Amino acid sequence: MTKPILRLIMGDQLNIAHSWFKDPPTHAEYLLMEVKEEASYAPHHIQKIIGFFVAMREFAKELTVRNFRVRYIALDTSSNKHSFASNVEEMVSSGRYSAFEYQQPDEYRVAQAMELLAQRLPVATKKFDTEHFLTTPEQFRSVFKGHQRYVMELFYREVRRSTGFLMQNGKPIGERWNFDSENRKKLPAGVKPPPAIEFPRDVSDIVSMLTQENVQSIGTVDPKRFTWAVSRNDAQQALQYFCAHLLPEFGSYQDAMTTEHRTLFHSKLSFALNVKLISPREVIEAAIKTWEENPERVSIEQIEGFVRQIAGWREFMRGVYWTHMPEYKRLNFFKAERSLPHYFWDADTKMNCVRQSVQQSLDDSYAHHIQRLMVTGNFAVMTGINPDEIDAWYLGIYADAVEWVQLPNTRGMSQFADGGIVGTKPYTSSAQYINKMSNYCSKCFYNYKEKFGERGCPFNTLYWDFLIRNQEKLEKNPRIGMGYQLLKKMPEKDKAAIREKGAEILNNIEKL
Ligand SMILES: Cc1cc2nc3c(=O)[nH]c(=O)nc-3n(C[C@H](O)[C@H](O)[C@H](O)COP(=O)(O)OP(=O)(O)OC[C@H]3O[C@@H](n4cnc5c(N)ncnc54)[C@H](O)[C@@H]3O)c2cc1C
Ligand code: SF4
Repeated sequence: MTKPILRLIMGDQLNIAHSWFKDPPTHAEYLLMEVKEEASYAPHHIQKIIGFFVAMREFAKELTVRNFRVRYIALDTSSNKHSFASNVEEMVSSGRYSAFEYQQPDEYRVAQAMELLAQRLPVATKKFDTEHFLTTPEQFRSVFKGHQRYVMELFYREVRRSTGFLMQNGKPIGERWNFDSENRKKLPAGVKPPPAIEFPRDVSDIVSMLTQENVQSIGTVDPKRFTWAVSRNDAQQALQYFCAHLLPEFGSYQDAMTTEHRTLFHSKLSFALNVKLISPREVIEAAIKTWEENPERVSIEQIEGFVRQIAGWREFMRGVYWTHMPEYKRLNFFKAERSLPHYFWDADTKMNCVRQSVQQSLDDSYAHHIQRLMVTGNFAVMTGINPDEIDAWYLGIYADAVEWVQLPNTRGMSQFADGGIVGTKPYTSSAQYINKMSNYCSKCFYNYKEKFGERGCPFNTLYWDFLIRNQEKLEKNPRIGMGYQLLKKMPEKDKAAIREKGAEILNNIEKL
């Protein structure tokens, strides 16, 4: 009898459309494993760990129903060696398998470990593509060949051309590539986003297993009601719900924040996308079809705003990651060294915007883009938090956080620790922006109109103090020129007052 091939499926490789699963093969055994090495290399949100484990278990079930041979090593399986490499080595050394095959890992650390493992194994090995993304890192590099710097828009246009998304006769539909300027509305009082779709599950058994196995985690979960979309069926339903109820307003209120609603018109598809339960092409095509069939309900501004996030930003971030790892993970342009204050872990702060964004993240393992970028990220960059700590926080707290997409968003876009590889300037703002885009300021201890005094909003002072502190590094940046022009005109005594108040805020950062 011929020996089977051992095929490894990682927790973020749950792609049922992969060519591995086209026909039920008799010659392969599919291996999925829950290992402590992955569950605890950084402290993760409990909902993130549960999300991965339930998604893997559901995927294994689906494979079994389709007659694939599956070997599932649960976290509490007694023979579990708790690392991909050790489990695979032990299985292969039994002599039961003719070869070992795996899909290209998306994370640099895991990709390196798999290369080394493949060299050590005493059987033939083969690596496959994950067959998930719209572009390759090589395409990313070829778009920017000969360019001085990356510009997301340039890459996005190439992806639109190569996929044909929202294109007609080689031109962008709507005669514009990008409707970003129409995507920045505050949520008016009369607009009530529909409730977020939920997929309640009892996960008490997994929670007990995590406790028994002593897996450290952050955040909370109701074990009787875990609500993330973690199966292929859930992801398809979430996509349908998004197209029917959320897409019509998605673009307009993409940047809005409110205490009244945690997800607004966002899709909450990032976890399902990142573990590959659903593909970017499938999501974009479903959204485009909805727009085509309902032109009176879904305008070009809404659909383009959504397509840009997935075909543009998501693929762009992946290109940056694979072009700049492993050095990228060490970049610290501002030489920022401060530790994260306690309220990133307990939400106990008088700053309402930070409290809301962190509390939501601890409760749900989710915050939308602008909360991540313009509240927590904005605060962290202006206070000079060490990007290693920032990365660990973002990687741990969000269910959708996998390194290839978390790192360029966090260290790059949000912290500008890469000195301008991802973005052209640091995303910083005073309370003016937060007040414009949310209702946070109206319920805050601090006064969004003030810089000084006990109730002066810290964001207002930090905005200017950050520019002064980093003048040497940023002054020549044309995108921040206006800020430095204004600073030049500012009387010296005002600047000195900002420096003094800025120092007071930073010295008392734990008490804000
Ligand atoms: C500091 C920071 C950290 C982030 N960390 C992550 C992360 O770890 N994992 C992650 O998937 N996204 C991350 N993002 C991007 C974005 O915030 C999330 O993808 C989004 O909030 C997920 O929610 P959603 O599915 O409701 O998104 P929607 O608003 O509905 O957008 C649709 C989809 O577009 C994609 N998308 C949107 N913006 C981005 C972006 N900037 N980069 C990549 N994809 C994008 C996502 O796949 C998302 O599901 C981060 C952004 C910032 C500013
Ligand atoms: S006043 Fe300042 S601290 Fe308070 S919510 Fe507004 S921006 Fe945040």
